[in-house]
Parts: sequence; structure tokens; C-alpha cells
Amino acid sequence: MLTKVFNSLPLFWQQLLVYCLISLLPILLLLPWLYHHNQQQLIQLKSEQLLLIAQEKFYQMQIHLQAQKEFVQQLANTPTVVEILHQSDIELYDLEALHQTSTSFLQQHQHKNLFIISPKGKLLFAAEHHMALGEHLTDDDWQTSALATLYRQIQPKPMVLGYHWDEVEGKLIGLISAPIVYDSELIGYLVIQMNKTWLNQFVEQRQGLGETGEINLGYQRPDGSAAPLFPTRYSEHNSTQREALAGEPIPLEKAIDGEVGWGESYDYRGEPIIVAWLYEPETNLGVVVKQDKKELFSTLNTQKGTFAISLILIMLIVILLTHRASRKQAKIIQQLVDQAQRLGSTQEHNLEQTPEQMAPELKKLSEALASADLQIKAQLNLLSTQAQLLEQQSESLKNANLNLEARIARKTAQLKDYISIVDEHVIISRANMDGQITYVSSAFCRISGYTSSELIGQNHSIVTHPNNPQGLLNEIWQAINNGQTWRGEIQNRSKDGASYWVNASISPTYDTETGNITGYMAIRENITDRKRAETLSITDEMTQLYNRRYFNEQFDQLWRLVARSHELLTLIMFDVDHFKNYNDDLGHHQGDCALIAVAQAIKSASRRATDYAFRLGGEEMAVLAIVQNPEEGVLLAEHIQQEINQLCMPHPSNSAAPYVTVSIGLCFFDGRDCQRASDPNLNGLYQLADKALYQAKEAGRNRIIACLEGLSCVSTSGQHRL
Ligand code: GH3
Ligand code: MG
Ligand code: MG
Repeated sequence: MLTKVFNSLPLFWQQLLVYCLISLLPILLLLPWLYHHNQQQLIQLKSEQLLLIAQEKFYQMQIHLQAQKEFVQQLANTPTVVEILHQSDIELYDLEALHQTSTSFLQQHQHKNLFIISPKGKLLFAAEHHMALGEHLTDDDWQTSALATLYRQIQPKPMVLGYHWDEVEGKLIGLISAPIVYDSELIGYLVIQMNKTWLNQFVEQRQGLGETGEINLGYQRPDGSAAPLFPTRYSEHNSTQREALAGEPIPLEKAIDGEVGWGESYDYRGEPIIVAWLYEPETNLGVVVKQDKKELFSTLNTQKGTFAISLILIMLIVILLTHRASRKQAKIIQQLVDQAQRLGSTQEHNLEQTPEQMAPELKKLSEALASADLQIKAQLNLLSTQAQLLEQQSESLKNANLNLEARIARKTAQLKDYISIVDEHVIISRANMDGQITYVSSAFCRISGYTSSELIGQNHSIVTHPNNPQGLLNEIWQAINNGQTWRGEIQNRSKDGASYWVNASISPTYDTETGNITGYMAIRENITDRKRAETLSITDEMTQLYNRRYFNEQFDQLWRLVARSHELLTLIMFDVDHFKNYNDDLGHHQGDCALIAVAQAIKSASRRATDYAFRLGGEEMAVLAIVQNPEEGVLLAEHIQQEINQLCMPHPSNSAAPYVTVSIGLCFFDGRDCQRASDPNLNGLYQLADKALYQAKEAGRNRIIACLEGLSCVSTSGQHRL
């Protein structure tokens, strides 16, 4: 989001923001750290200073106290005091001399009072207030008095200088005691009650403590608690101080506990302070020196304010300078942008002079733009030339395209014509792999007599003539499945049952994507007329058997076939018995009818694809057939003989039977003989069969004689077999 807003700003404002951030961020980060660091340093320095002051005050007071002690000791040792006390153990308080001495001592040292106590604790003398003289400090009335407390302290070590702070009824009392000794014997104690004003001179001299600085004094009570010496009302505010310190000991307590230290704390007003403290057990004096934190940091805060103002000024200067620099750069960049835009435009343009007051990088950019301008101009010229060329080429392409379109239109029309011609004249059909017709041309419909809707979806066998040799369809399917084209002649049958012949070319069709065979396409040529002419030329007109000429041709093909298949070719010859007589008996016409009937019987008995029946001439007929062995040939001959006999055409002058019979002679050609002999001799084979036939005639007619290989002939009749 911020990046988006930043990027949407003009370049000038972006620069300004970046400069301001770069220049101010370190300062803004550094400032709090510096302030904190300075605070800590200031606290440290102030603490050390306060401690020095505390030490100095302490030493001054120590010296003062020491001096006072010495003065007291000197007084206790003065002959006046010792002797007077020694001479009279009691009622010395009236002694003028002692009174004078004590008064002058008190005045000289500004003490408040002077007492003399007997070793047993009897108050012997008091410079002021004589009411209690003669009383014993051990009495119950004196128990809580400062003098009694002091007496209890010095009792165990009577020869040592005593020293005691106390407060009685809210008044601070400072006592110094010294033993009075006569002839190494303790004869009493001299006790001085100090005037508290001497303490003021120490606490009121507050050099180096500023306006809020204070010196507090204190001591340790016999119960161990801290008692303030100055200011005496100090304790009244302790609750506020303790609240601020939240359970922490106040500095004076720390001092009384024997610590020497300094640091931050709160005073009796609850104000935060910097404080130093120390304590000396011998004098039982604790010194606390403090100053308000506020005052300490006031200078720092002033400095902070000054620094902030300076910073704002620096910022303003930075912004001003950035503003000026950015405007200048932005102006130059704008000029360059304008130039670049003019470069991009197609209008005529001239780059302005490179401004002199430009940053080196911008100058380079400007020069680069000028150079780019020249290059662009050159490119523009080149492009313009190329555009003209392209225009010309486009024009010529357009013309070529028009020509092409016209040609395509012509060719398309031509193609349509061709398609229509092909459709009209070429017998085409397509079928799937199940043999179902998927397309037929008009020519196909015309020749087959079916409409296309009658044909499509039907099996192709609908037009296949049953006369076609066995295995022809298998041969065609095998070629298709092998991806080969089958070519050959097929006899077809039209819707009305008429036969027609086609020369077909059947090719597999493929799936363009998978390459798999999807079916086949057959293109056929109508060869019915040719076939008819051919048939006529090889057919005997009367008997409709193949004629003699075709016999010669067919023999040539068949011997080659058996030579390849190593089978047998048999030639079976028939001759009607006593046919001359038949003619004579029944007339020539009846003779013709008999011949036709015999021919029909021969034809119907030899229906296999490799069986061919011929009329060789007159009443002589023959069958060429491929057989597996001689027995098969004889069986065929017998079968034909039976067929003829079963005609039972009466033939009264037939010596063999009362009906028309034939004599049969047959011989074989072994395909394997082709290994031995190059061309089989038809005449030789014919003669063999004819010879066998002759033998059949000779043997009584109506019989079969077979001649086996090697030209050995065996005679057979109706009863005789091979
Ligand atoms: P065989 O063979 O038993 O010895 O006696 P054949 O009488 O049949 O003897 P041959 O072969 O000499 O006679 C053949 C006869 O067949 C002669 C001819 O009159 C007759 N013939 C030949 N061609 C035709 C024909 O086309 N029509 C008719 N009706 N008779 C024919
Ligand atoms: Mg004959
Ligand atoms: Mg004959």
C-alpha cells in the first residue's frame, strides 16, 4: 500500500521523501539514545559529586566532633574540675569555681549544658537547670533520659570518651562524655550537651548542590533504626517517600546499615532525587546528600530543546536544498523525457542543445538520445523504403491472390465436373471391414440396378455372382488385409439377376490419424461386352461348351498350373456311340438336340473351378480337369458317363445300349513331369486319349479306357477299372 502511494508520487516528491528519511532517520534514532546516555552520565557524575560532598561534610563533622571531644577531655582533666570533685564528693554544685569554668567552656564552645556525674550515676553538677542535682540516673524517673542512656553506654568502659545522640520529647540531644580521673581512679564523668546549631553550619553550606540540593544527617538509635538529625521534621514525610520507593529502604537507612553508595531514589516529598550517602559507626553519624533529578535534568532538557530546534532547522535546510536540487534535476529529466517523446513521435523533430548545467550522467543520457535520434531517423528512412517495397509486394501478392482464387474457382468447377463424370461413369464403391457398403457412385447404381439407399449398409456380396470361383473373395480379403491392391475380373449380378462383368481394382482405405485399415475402395470397369465377345469366341454355339480353339489355350494354362502345384491334369475324351445311325434314325435336328443334351450333362457333371468342358468337333467332346490322382480322373469320367446314361435318350441302333451312350478315353499329364520335359505335347496327350477312346470303341463302346503315365494304356469298360 505504502509502496503504491510512494510510486504514485511525482519524482520530485519521491526524492524529497527519500532525502528527508535518509538524513533524519539516523538522527531520530540516535537522539533518544544520546539523551538516555547523557542522563546516565549526568546521574553518574552527580552521584560522584554528591558522594564527594558527603565525604567532605562527614570529615568536617568528624574533625569538629573530635575537637569537641578533646576539649571535653581537656576540661575533664583540668585541675579545677578534678580537684574539686576529689575533695568533696557531694554538694559541689555550689562551687563557684566550677560554675565559672563550665560557663566559660560552654560559652567558648557554644555548648548547651555541662553535667558531672558520679561513677555511681549521681548527677553532681549541671551548668544549667539545677533541679535534678543529687538524683541518680539509675532511678526509674531517669531511665528514658539521654543522660541515663549515655551513662548506661559508658558504664562498661568508663575510661573511654563517650559520645551519644539522642532525642527526648522530639528534641535532639548530642552528648559527649569524658572520664574524670584522679590518681588513676575514676571519680566522675564530665558530660557536655552540644548545641545543635553547630550542625547547621554543615548542612547549610550547600555549595555545588544547586537550588534543590540538601544535606541530611542521621544516626542509629540503640534499637538499630535510623534517626534523622537534620532536618528534624524529616521523618514526618517518610510515608510519601516510602510510598514512592515501594518498600525500598530510604537512603538514610541504607547509610545507617553501613552502606556507602549513590544512585537514584526518592526524598521525603516523594520527589525523584540523585543521592549519595555514607555512615561512620564510631561517630554514629550518617550523611545523606541529595539533589532533585528535575534540576539536574533541566540543563539537559534545555539542551534537548535547543537540539530539537537545531534539528528542525537542519531539516528545513535539507528540505530546501533537496527541493532546489530535485526541481533542477526534474526539470532536466523532463526536458529529456520531452526529447525522448519527440523521438518516439513520427513528426519532424530536432533535439535541443544539451544543457550545460547538467549532471554528467544526464549529459550522457542526453547525448545518447541525440545519437538514438540519428539512428532512428536512419531506421525510419529504411523502414519507409521497406514499407514502399512491402506495399508493392502486397499489391502484386493481391493480384496473384486474385489470379489464384480465379484459378482455384476454375479448377474447383473442373474438379466438380470430373467428380461428376467419375461418379457418372466410374463404378466406384467403398465398404468397411465388415464388407458393408458405405458409398456407391451413380455408375455403380446404374450397372447394378439398385439405388444408392438400397446399397448403402448392405453387404458387398449383394452384387457378387455365384458363378465366381470358390476362394475368390478370400483372395481379395487377404490382399486388403495385407495392404495390397487386388486386381482382377469379377462376375457380378444386378438387381434383376442379370450377370455383368467388371475389371476391379480393390485397394484398402486407411484412417488418416491412426493409419489403420478401415475398409476398401473398389474401382471397376464394365467389361461385360468384352467378356461376352470373349465368351462367344471360345464357346461352341450349339452346345455352349468351350470350343476347340479355347481347348488349345486352356490346355496351355492348365499344364502350367499343375506344373506349379505338382498335380495331375486329366484329359477325358467323349465320342457318341453310333451317332451316324442316330442321325439316320431320328433326323439331324434330333441329333443336334441329343448333342446339346449330352453336352449339358458333361457340363453339369464337371462344375469345379478347374473343370473345363469342350466340344472338340462333331459329336466328340472333352473335359480338362485338375485332379489329385488318376482315380479321381476316372471317377469324374464315370460320373459324366452316368449323367449321360441317365438322360436315357432312346438310340435304337446303338450296339452298346438302347439309349444314347458315349465311349470315353482318358489320359493324364503329371505336373512333376515338367522337371523332365520342357513343354508337354498336346498332340501327344491328345493322341493318348484318342487311342484310349478308340480302344473303348473297340472294346464295345459305352465304356472308359484310361491311359496312365508312360503311355501305358489299360482297357476298362463299365465293368473294367484301372
Ligand atoms: P462310332 O463313333 O460309334 O464308331 O460310330 P459313328 O456313327 O458315330 O461314327 P462317325 O464318327 O463316323 O460318325 C459321326 C457322325 O456324326 C457323322 C455325322 O453325321 C454326325 N455328325 C457330326 N456332326 C454332327 C452335327 O453337328 N449334327 C448332327 N446331327 N450330326 C452330326
Ligand atoms: Mg466320331
Ligand atoms: Mg461316334
